[in-house]
Amino acid sequence: MDIKAQLLQLKEEIKKEVQGIFDEKVLNEIKVKYLGKKGLITSALKSLGSLSPEERKEVGQLANSIKEFLEETLKAKQEEIEKKKLEEILRKERLDISLPAEWFEPSASHPVLTTLKEITEIFKSMGFTVESGPEVEYEDYNFTMLNIPEHHPARDMQDTFYTSNGMLLRTHTSPVQIRSMLKKKPPFAIVAPGRVYRKDMDPTHSPMFHQIEGLMVDKNVSFKDLKGILKIFLENIFGNNIPIRFRPSYFPFTEPSAEVDVGCTVCKGKGCRVCKNTGWLEILGCGMVDPNVFKAVGIDPEEYTGFAFGLGIERIAMLRYQITDIRLLFTNDLRFNLQFRGIE
Ligand SMILES: [Zn+2]
Repeated sequence: MDIKAQLLQLKEEIKKEVQGIFDEKVLNEIKVKYLGKKGLITSALKSLGSLSPEERKEVGQLANSIKEFLEETLKAKQEEIEKKKLEEILRKERLDISLPAEWFEPSASHPVLTTLKEITEIFKSMGFTVESGPEVEYEDYNFTMLNIPEHHPARDMQDTFYTSNGMLLRTHTSPVQIRSMLKKKPPFAIVAPGRVYRKDMDPTHSPMFHQIEGLMVDKNVSFKDLKGILKIFLENIFGNNIPIRFRPSYFPFTEPSAEVDVGCTVCKGKGCRVCKNTGWLEILGCGMVDPNVFKAVGIDPEEYTGFAFGLGIERIAMLRYQITDIRLLFTNDLRFNLQFRGIE
């Protein structure tokens, strides 16, 4: 058989071979068989040299036309395969929009978050801005600059989580005071809500809990301003007629310092288990910023005064919603959480 007849036969073979193929792998094999380095068409083209010039022209054209034919056929087949694939995907992923929807139980805002938001809003309404800081903190910001010297019990390894690189998980939101005073010039009033960490766990303590910290710095800020602001805050949270008392206390970063109690919301002052029969509930700690703290951040304590306060969000939430075990707040049990639906 001469080369021309061979080529024409090849074309017929190709037509047959390509029919009914719906697999890209097989398609590639055919491509290699005919058009690859050792492919049948490639070999035919290579053998042109042994032909006479006239034959060479005729056979060359024929071989090229078969090559083109094959390429086009393969391309068309490839498109057909892709179209089939897409149709298959569309068929599989078809959505029946007439199906009834699955019912999802509406969730509830967590009582801690609800309380935290509400407290923050009260202070914002009095002109405080909201600041935040990192939960992994420098020892200096968490302790030293807040006038907590190295021998202070608060630094004890029993209470504080230290990281391997000499930092710590902040034990209170007070380092945000330091960060704010380092970057702001007085006058300013800030609140800093956030998570804090201590090695503690019982019905009223959790190793992670939330605090909100407040700080106001200006010329002539006095204890009277502190009392006024806290009174407005506590009345907003517990109601207008809530009894409030200030008790002298000690904190390293404030001088003088006080703890603030409100009349027991459970027994109305008569004495019960929640208030340990005192009729009062401890709510927050506060005081005038210690001059040593001002010195640590470069604020002149002769020119400026300020007050600071801090409280635990969980404590307020537990009192408001009569929750007796702080750990219930962090179990992620929907039966607990869903009781608070609609209260936010
Ligand atoms: Zn009570």
